[in-house]
Amino acid sequence: MTDCLFCKIVAKEIPAEIVLETDRALAFRDINPQAPTHVLVVPKEHHADAAALAAADDGLADDVLKAAHAVAVQEGTAEPGYRVVFNTGPAAGQTVFHVHAHVLGGRALEWPPG
Ligand code: 5GP
Ligand code: ZN
Repeated sequence: MTDCLFCKIVAKEIPAEIVLETDRALAFRDINPQAPTHVLVVPKEHHADAAALAAADDGLADDVLKAAHAVAVQEGTAEPGYRVVFNTGPAAGQTVFHVHAHVLGGRALEWPPG
């Protein structure tokens, strides 16, 4: 996608603090962190949202989830715990329509979210 912010980060056309890169996923720190660990994990291939990612073939969603867990381990927040969030659609607060998992940790996280 030519006019997609996260495609541009994947292409390294826009800088980001990358914390993990695999063949098919990229993880970088959120520019406006909501927790000590706040990393976004995206598939390198453009899909608009979690529904499109789930419909993608050949295990791409698996790769994104595995990368999210690897980020939590790397950040030292796999224990005591972390949260993985896919805001999906405007009513859920999705603002960038290149699917991304928020990996949040490093502090106690309340439930339910707002
Ligand atoms: P959403 O609201 O779509 O679930 O999440 C989009 C996230 O992208 C937000 O948490 C926002 O802070 C983050 N974000 C927006 N623009 C940029 C950017 O240019 N670089 C980085 N690293 N994060 C961004
Ligand atoms: Zn994109």
